[in-house]
Amino acid sequence: MPTEEIELPTEGIDPQRLPLPEATQPLKILWQYVIVLLAIHAFALLALLPYMFTWSGVLLAILGHFTFGMLGITIGYHRLLTHRGFACPKWLEHTFAVFGMCNLQDSPARWVAIHRMHHQHSDHQPDPHSPLANFLWGHVGWVVCRHRDLDRTSHYERYVRDLLRDPFYLRLERRGGWFFVFLAHAVLIAVAGALFGYWASGGVTSESIRYGYSWAVWAVAVRTVFVLHGTWAVNSLSHVFGYRNYETRDNSRNNWLVALFSHGEGWHNNHHAQPRAAAHGHRWYEFDMSWRVIQLLEAVGLAKDVVRPKANAAAEE
Ligand SMILES: [Zn+2]
Ligand SMILES: [Zn+2]
Repeated sequence: MPTEEIELPTEGIDPQRLPLPEATQPLKILWQYVIVLLAIHAFALLALLPYMFTWSGVLLAILGHFTFGMLGITIGYHRLLTHRGFACPKWLEHTFAVFGMCNLQDSPARWVAIHRMHHQHSDHQPDPHSPLANFLWGHVGWVVCRHRDLDRTSHYERYVRDLLRDPFYLRLERRGGWFFVFLAHAVLIAVAGALFGYWASGGVTSESIRYGYSWAVWAVAVRTVFVLHGTWAVNSLSHVFGYRNYETRDNSRNNWLVALFSHGEGWHNNHHAQPRAAAHGHRWYEFDMSWRVIQLLEAVGLAKDVVRPKANAAAEE
């Protein structure tokens, strides 16, 4: 690649430099993504208003981080659908996928296709979101720019043929079905908040309205934004900052801060070394909340064929 095509690197980033993926050139902004993401961030900022504060809203935001963020994205989209690190009954798999769609992170098939491509080419062309091209690109830029391959059926056949054999996932690809799942869950939470507020205040309409807004802001917007940045940080921070247990061919890192906020996904160098392993923490101090939940699912008979890391692999490196 001629050097003039290379984006300016952010300070502190590995000297290795990458151009942006060719399939994104020339850059074309996906305005529908920009508008939706700006709207959810603006909505989340309303949480700063004292009027929007309710303890129940905050509690639901935290619970939602586990339910939608961990079960939906980390365990569902990532460890189950992308890497098949374990198997579970279809009804549970589909439930996890529905939880995943409640985080504004695209349909299961698109998410999985992008992520499998990332593993195949991580930090080399054509990795869709390497921060070695540009930190902001790796975090969010790639989300809001068109990637020509993702508009091609051949790309889906190559990366997610297994998933699209299931009519459940195929239907979600049509007419942005996944986005309506997100909207429906947001409306449901707001309505539930209004009903709860009505009950909690003994039938005061203004309080009912306030609770409806509060749950929408805290349990939907704040939580969604938090989960979004957690996932994006795995792609950006965990490919730049942190330590390495394994000499992988990419720049992946184990980052404890990202692991803390993304239920174990920050042990990303371990994950790149052994992508199928359902456990991302490989050393005793690398706490991986998602792995504990998968172990629990296995103990109660809901998860089987669980792929474990190769014994002592990290210790031998
Ligand atoms: Zn990665
Ligand atoms: Zn992965």
